[in-house]
Formats: sequence, C-alpha cells, structure tokens
Amino acid sequence: MGYDIERFVGYVNEGLLCCVCRDVLEDPLQAPCEHAFCSSCIHGWLVHHHNCPEDRQPLEGALLRPLFRYMRNDLSRLQIRCRNREQGCGMVCSLESVDRHERECEYGLVACTNAGDEYSCYRCGCPIQVERRSLEAHVAACEFRSRECPHGCGYTMLTCEDSQHSCVAELRTELELLRSEMICKVEEVRHEMESRLDSQRRHMVQKESLLKSEVEELKGQLSRVMSDVRALLGAERLHRQELEQAELEKRELLELLKSLQREGRSHTPSPAPPPGSAPEGLRKTGGARGLTLDCIKRKSREVTVI
Ligand SMILES: [Zn+2]
Ligand SMILES: [Zn+2]
Ligand SMILES: [Zn+2]
Ligand SMILES: [Zn+2]
Ligand SMILES: [Zn+2]
Repeated sequence: MGYDIERFVGYVNEGLLCCVCRDVLEDPLQAPCEHAFCSSCIHGWLVHHHNCPEDRQPLEGALLRPLFRYMRNDLSRLQIRCRNREQGCGMVCSLESVDRHERECEYGLVACTNAGDEYSCYRCGCPIQVERRSLEAHVAACEFRSRECPHGCGYTMLTCEDSQHSCVAELRTELELLRSEMICKVEEVRHEMESRLDSQRRHMVQKESLLKSEVEELKGQLSRVMSDVRALLGAERLHRQELEQAELEKRELLELLKSLQREGRSHTPSPAPPPGSAPEGLRKTGGARGLTLDCIKRKSREVTVI
C-alpha cells in the first residue's frame, strides 16, 4: 500500500502514483510498459492476474524492474507530514527521511516496557500503549512494574501484587520448593551410588572366582612338583647306595690287588730278568695283574656313570 496522498504538502506528479492503490508509490517497481506500482500492490495483483492492471499487457513478476532513477529522486524529495499528525506532531519532512522520523517520533504509540512478550496474557504484562513522550511517566506508575519486597524477603513482585504479598508465605513456599528439590537430588545421588556399588560388587565376585580357580591350578602344580621332588630324592638315595656299594667293591679290589702284588714280590726276588726273557711264572702273574686292573677300570667306569 502506498502513502496516502493527503499527507503530502504541495503538488504530486501523477506518474508517482501507484496504478493499483492510487496512492503515492511505496517501495516502487515498474513494468516493461513503464507503469509503476507499489511492490506489495503489484505482487498481490499478480497472484490472480498475469497482466498490467493499467493496460492489460502480459506481465509476470520476473519482468518487474526498479523505477527510473529520475522518478525515484522525484519521489524521495516529496514533502510528507508525519503519520502522527493527529496526535499532535507537526513534522513535515522528505519522503526519504520520514521512516527515520516516525521510528523516533515523540507522538508515536509504543507498548509499555512491562508488556511482557508477545504471547503473555494481560495478567502477565501491561497491555497499555502510550505515546513515546509519556512512556517514562507511565512506567513510573505502571502497576506491572516490579520491585523488590520492602520488608527484605528478597521476592520481586509486581506493584499490583503488593496487597496480597506476605513475606512468611513467600518464604515458606520457597522453602518447600528447596526442600523438594533437595529430596529429589538426594534420591538421585542414592540411586547413582547404589548402582555403582552393585557394579563393583559384581566385579569383585568375578574377580574372586577367577582368583579361586588360579589358586586351584597353583595347588595342582605344587602337588605335581612335590611328587617330582620326592621321586628325585628317591633316585638320589638309590644312587648314593650304589655309589657306596661301588666304593666298597673298589676298596676290596684294591685290597686284593695289594695282596696279589705282595704275593708276586715274594715269589720273584730281584734283580729283575732282562726284557724279552721273563720267566713263565712272572708272565702268568703279569697276566693276572692285567686282568685285575681291567676289572678295576671297568668298575670305576661304572661308578663314574652312576
Ligand atoms: Zn499501491
Ligand atoms: Zn502497463
Ligand atoms: Zn512525528
Ligand atoms: Zn504499563
Ligand atoms: Zn516480602
């Protein structure tokens, strides 16, 4: 929608009027046929039509272009009155700067700062709209302004709640709230601890059975080792006995050898016969000696093997 032509001071060229709403162009666009329209007006028109509203020539949105520069300049230089003229604003300024003025116009209506958000009900926020110039005065007296309780309970309340406010009741409610919150938290912590303990217990039980089976295995190993040791000790004892036996035999043989030597010496007195012509008796004795030595050697070898 364009600007109401009544708001303009002085002559407005007809070329600056919208072909749809017949007001002064707002946010203008132009068709290839050079007819101009407010952006919202022509887009609304093209939803149901496919032509220029002025001369019915074919038209679609993609063909719309910005207005000629000289026309835009003419448009922005037009002098317009503030829209809050009826509230008392006497401002007249160029079309170019009227938006900026109206955003700050002292006569413009604004919502009270205690209005709350868009979705809050009247009970939650102040429904009043005031002129910007009297906002401050309204806010100072607004019954939706909040302030801290003067009795020091710490509660922030709206002015309209003043009469119903009781510090004790307020504190009691808050205490109840805190208490229930605390109970919730304690319960939560207890649950967590219990589940943690449970999992630890399960873990310990597993570990215990593992350790038990390890102990059993070690016991088995130990008994095997013990029986091995016993067997080895038995073998050693046997060896020792055999060794003693061998030693005994050796000693006997040595005795035998000595007695044989003694016997030999008494039969063959010195001097010794020349080599190669030994008497038969000696040779016989020598043979016997050789036999005894062989026997000893064999015995001692057996001992070493043992
Ligand atoms: Zn229009
Ligand atoms: Zn046209
Ligand atoms: Zn104004
Ligand atoms: Zn208010
Ligand atoms: Zn209080």
